Amino acid sequence: MLRKRAFSGGVHPPQSKITAHLPIEEVPLPPQVVIPLQQHLGAPAEPLCKAGDTVKIGDKIGEAKGFVSVPCHASVSGTVKAVEPRLHPLGGRVLSVVIDSDGKGEVASSVMPDPDYMQRSAEELRARVREAGLAGMGGAAFPTHVKLSPPPTKPIDTLLINGAECEPYLTADHRLMLEQPREILAGVQVIQKILGCKRVVIAIEDNKPDAIATMRKAVADTGERYEVMSFQAKYPQGAEKQLIKAATGREVPRGGLPMDVGCLVHNVGTAKAIYEAVALRKPLVERVVTVTGPGVRTPKNLRVPLGTSFAHLFAHCGGLTEDAGKIIMGGPLMGIAQFSDEVPVIKGTSGIVVLTQTESRLSDPLVCIGCARCVDACPMKLVPTHIQTLVRHERFAAAKEYGLLDCIECGCCAFVCPAKIPFVHLMKYGKLKVYQLERAAGPKSA
Ligand code: SF4
Ligand code: SF4
Repeated sequence: MLRKRAFSGGVHPPQSKITAHLPIEEVPLPPQVVIPLQQHLGAPAEPLCKAGDTVKIGDKIGEAKGFVSVPCHASVSGTVKAVEPRLHPLGGRVLSVVIDSDGKGEVASSVMPDPDYMQRSAEELRARVREAGLAGMGGAAFPTHVKLSPPPTKPIDTLLINGAECEPYLTADHRLMLEQPREILAGVQVIQKILGCKRVVIAIEDNKPDAIATMRKAVADTGERYEVMSFQAKYPQGAEKQLIKAATGREVPRGGLPMDVGCLVHNVGTAKAIYEAVALRKPLVERVVTVTGPGVRTPKNLRVPLGTSFAHLFAHCGGLTEDAGKIIMGGPLMGIAQFSDEVPVIKGTSGIVVLTQTESRLSDPLVCIGCARCVDACPMKLVPTHIQTLVRHERFAAAKEYGLLDCIECGCCAFVCPAKIPFVHLMKYGKLKVYQLERAAGPKSA
């Protein structure tokens, strides 16, 4: 029997899932890819190639530097044109490997299926995940092998597979659950073997009844006792702490991690990529991206080689409309505005949303009227209006005391605020200042 659960706070923006019924299409091979050596949280990878080298799909082109880092791989076959700083969708320029495609799509010999992958040890499976360059595909891009390495003092008893996809417009995870449920579940079995956790919950919002039905049938076919849980469609249901609270009733402590309450959360796309990494020995070289919004002529769900430019995807979607305005990587609430369509798709690019010029216009913020809507909407139980006031007055230590660092930058407060306060901008700025001040003051003050 399906159970419906939710968390406190949150908002109900228009869902606008206009691509939910569209099967994933392969995008035509781009003539060139730009693969940043930093697509994950942690240390950037170091280049392993130089201009003039020839590469095939899956060849390693960047080596992980340190434990919290992952390697990068070629997503097309062809010739390395340059290793140089290029525009990055998270801002600035990042050292990147530029590859001119030869159009052949040749795959490296290292990409070879291993039919006995479930006989491998947990250490071997974890090593394969790392070697494949996996980083969380829900957007956060935290190195997957690190999440799969909890310390012995923090045993994981519950694995949550996140298929909530609560941001408006995005449908990549939805389509993946409909089209590749078996691969997702094979990845779940690998995670379970690595962690030894007993309980598995596959979490899906109740606005995707077809995905719930598909995943339940696929679970039944495996004979596993995984729970497919239906959650009320509410933003940000897919945020880790909110998902854990809704699914298990456990509350991740302030400043803590899911492992502190025996939980681990992986996105459905990451689970599928884990299967491919260990069973097919295929590195993370492509992902599903929803290209959508009123500014895109023909929105689509696309399977895209990493490093493909946004412009190439727009061209495949019939181009942008005359009144296209803001380009956002990710969803409209938590995504990141882009200043160029030449930026590449990276491991965390779940979608690209293009709004119209009217929708993109920023209104001047007014004065707070003390309505407390932001307080009711905050899923982290913060008092956003107070924190933003402290940040504006440069009282960063006080803002931290009031929970600034617990803000997950979901934008619920900004969504409901009649005064149009730019909350997310202020929260990001406040956090940056707190980190800068703590670094400047030395470790004891932290
Ligand atoms: S952006 Fe931060 S303060 Fe605002 S609702 Fe989300 S968690 Fe709360
Ligand atoms: S929602 Fe906006 S106007 Fe209302 S209390 Fe919060 S900051 Fe003030």
